[in-house]
Amino acid sequence: MNRDAPAGEAPRISFVSLGCPKALVDSERILTHLRAEGYELSRHHDGADVVIVNTCGFLDSAKAESLEAIGTAMKENGKVIVTGCMGAEPDQIRDIFPNVLAITGPQQYESVLGAVHQAVPPAHDPFVDLVPPQGIKLTPRHYAYLKISEGCNNRCSFCIIPKLRGDLVSRPAGDVLREAERLVKAGVKELLVISQDTSAYGVDIKYAASPWRDREVKAKFLDLSAALGELGVWVRLHYVYPYPHVDAVVELMAEGKVLPYIDIPFQHASPSVLKAMRRPAHQEKTAERIRRWREICPDLAIRSTFIVGFPGETDEDFEFLLDWLDEVKLDRVGCFKFEPVDGAPANELAGIVPDEVKEQRWHRFMQRQQAISAKQLARRVGRRVQVLVDETSGLRAKGRAAWDAPEIDGSIHLTSRRPIRAGEFVTARIESADAYDLHGTVV
Ligand code: SF4
Repeated sequence: MNRDAPAGEAPRISFVSLGCPKALVDSERILTHLRAEGYELSRHHDGADVVIVNTCGFLDSAKAESLEAIGTAMKENGKVIVTGCMGAEPDQIRDIFPNVLAITGPQQYESVLGAVHQAVPPAHDPFVDLVPPQGIKLTPRHYAYLKISEGCNNRCSFCIIPKLRGDLVSRPAGDVLREAERLVKAGVKELLVISQDTSAYGVDIKYAASPWRDREVKAKFLDLSAALGELGVWVRLHYVYPYPHVDAVVELMAEGKVLPYIDIPFQHASPSVLKAMRRPAHQEKTAERIRRWREICPDLAIRSTFIVGFPGETDEDFEFLLDWLDEVKLDRVGCFKFEPVDGAPANELAGIVPDEVKEQRWHRFMQRQQAISAKQLARRVGRRVQVLVDETSGLRAKGRAAWDAPEIDGSIHLTSRRPIRAGEFVTARIESADAYDLHGTVV
């Protein structure tokens, strides 16, 4: 149905953003364009001129959540545009919701905008065309995701992201740095660098240099990290793989240029499972590499995710994984039970692990890791650290030190004698630790 917004009123969009931080960045870009064209955001589907649902299609459970969100939007509004990973397979959506207005795939900003224009043309009011230079952000003002590339050259057997999003396409370093500068000028204190494989940054464009400020910066993981480190804010690196060239970036961490934090989705430790998973860097001697990183940067925090119950995972593989956890002592860890993803090559593998075994392994994994994490956290007690405040309530606040990323890791619960604000850096003394969080006082 085409309809113009009433004269003088800006058309209103209700937006649902599902999925990973990368999808969140896509949502921010779509919203930035729409706001620039004068569209308003609506807090509710009811009363909005159109609803956009940015879906996630990574796991079957994420698909179910996406379909539910589309269903709610259809019921409460009826004018729905679907985009994101699930949009790559439109039939799955059309079969259930034949009346959605349009379905577009991931990164198809132009198509989403076209569908919105068709459903409800933009209002022509030069005053609503203004948009803050940093764009519209869905994260709190003091941190922002910075996407440095799209797609992925790896072919992990449990993953369909390369099928959905294609091979690696890196952004020129100058573009990334200018976006980062705009964010910092707008008040962002922490940049969260994301991509599917951050350590592969620039491979596709042969590490081409591009202009930034008065010099050229190469599209290389190390060079980009160093340049981001010049911006005077926290820089946190996500989705890195344990390649040898990462050592030099850990040196930047030791020098305080980027945060001593590295997010590496190891997924497993047993060589045969890693091989079946077709993980990047699976032949590296990872425990040795981690030991070396900690020599370079003793304060380094490592976060990771794992999959248990992958097809073919034997009791020995699983015990190997638990022993490896004891050996490498990661700081923050997430664990998933293997779930087949439609279209992923892993579905063809023999050796399906029964659900009850997966469940047992998951509990044993979590128990083992919880004890390790608690010990790692206890080591922080007694230290004075810089904390970025995320939320406040009276003289209490919640924040994070360098070792914790927002949304996925733990927090530091603070008490303070003076009022403090979200987005402020404070110094705190860590007084105690529990299994996940730290507690301290602002000094
Ligand atoms: S590295 Fe593997 S899991 Fe990650 S996006 Fe690429 S193919 Fe998927």
